[in-house]
Amino acid sequence: MNWTILNGVNKLHDEMKEWMGHLHQCPELALMETKTANFIAEKLKSWGYDVVEGIGKTGIVASMTVGKGNKTIGLRADFDALPIQEVNDLPYKSKIEGVSHLCGHDGHSTMLLGAAKYLAETKNFNGTVRLIFQPGEETMEGSPAMIADGLFERFPVDAVYGMHNMPGLPFGKFHFCENEMMAAVDNWEIELTGKGSHGSMPELSIDPVVCGSSLVMALQTIVSRNVSPWQNSVVSVGAFIAGNAGNVVPQTALLRLSIRNMEPKLREMVLNKIRSITKSQAEAFGCKYEIREGIPGAVLLNTPENTQWAASVARNTFGDDQVVYPAHPYMGSEDFAFMLQKKNGTYCMLGNGDSFMVHHPQYVFNQDILPIGAAYWAALTEEYLK
Ligand SMILES: [Zn+2]
Ligand SMILES: [Zn+2]
Repeated sequence: MNWTILNGVNKLHDEMKEWMGHLHQCPELALMETKTANFIAEKLKSWGYDVVEGIGKTGIVASMTVGKGNKTIGLRADFDALPIQEVNDLPYKSKIEGVSHLCGHDGHSTMLLGAAKYLAETKNFNGTVRLIFQPGEETMEGSPAMIADGLFERFPVDAVYGMHNMPGLPFGKFHFCENEMMAAVDNWEIELTGKGSHGSMPELSIDPVVCGSSLVMALQTIVSRNVSPWQNSVVSVGAFIAGNAGNVVPQTALLRLSIRNMEPKLREMVLNKIRSITKSQAEAFGCKYEIREGIPGAVLLNTPENTQWAASVARNTFGDDQVVYPAHPYMGSEDFAFMLQKKNGTYCMLGNGDSFMVHHPQYVFNQDILPIGAAYWAALTEEYLK
């Protein structure tokens, strides 16, 4: 156990709750987090960090160098909220109608702020720490936007680390997983255009409902007939929007898909099958089609050596029984995957205890994990920059 860090960070617990309360009350959606970014940047500046704002729209990198060490560690937290109405009776409930921090990104940023303050006060490291506060995680846009804005060229790091709270995992326990940790999500839309008609005269129509129905069934054969039972892939058609009257053949049908994959090669195969099946089905029924592929997903791959190392730091800091390693992967997704395509590092889960799942309107970030997450960041920094 690292009592120096644990006790030091615990002293910041009340302050951290205040920061999180503020962020929670004023949630902002992806890539519109100007007030949130401002709040975070002001705190970091007041503690002596070299703060650069506006990276990938609203992202922040705060750097601090102590001593002559030439190593650099990157720690990343996200800070965007979701378009969901919160149904909680918290003293710090969201003040913005229909927008709320129901994924706990307010807590993530607070944990990194807690570590930032502790590290700036104690300066018990030798090298450079870079704190990456990222916007727009929920839409998978923020991490690519920061990278495209020169994140790792302007602010080089040797490795980068991320963390998410996880409901259902035991309170305060860390879960580490090597290699594939989170799935790549691809959110696609397929629009079929036929020819509208009176419902009594189908011969004058090209029916996109019949074409779409056939397409939905055909898409279900991709996983069952092309993916090995030993591998993971999901093709869900979550929305099928067409027409609104029984006696009308509509002009168009819109399908919305959520596609989840764990392996890049498998993902390519699944996506190609969706393209070819859509084309052949649309042509067979005489419909025109348009596939809108959205922002490409990426599998989150944790570097094995960095994962082993981070798990050992967590064990030394919190005790062996607080670390689960190797833990199981998730079919959820994270745009931190794009940072791990550029840099070695690892992403872990921190147990939020028995609560509603993230994105549920009654989800609550457990504020008692704030010092635990902050202590993890501080321990990684002190251990890497010895
Ligand atoms: Zn989320
Ligand atoms: Zn999240």
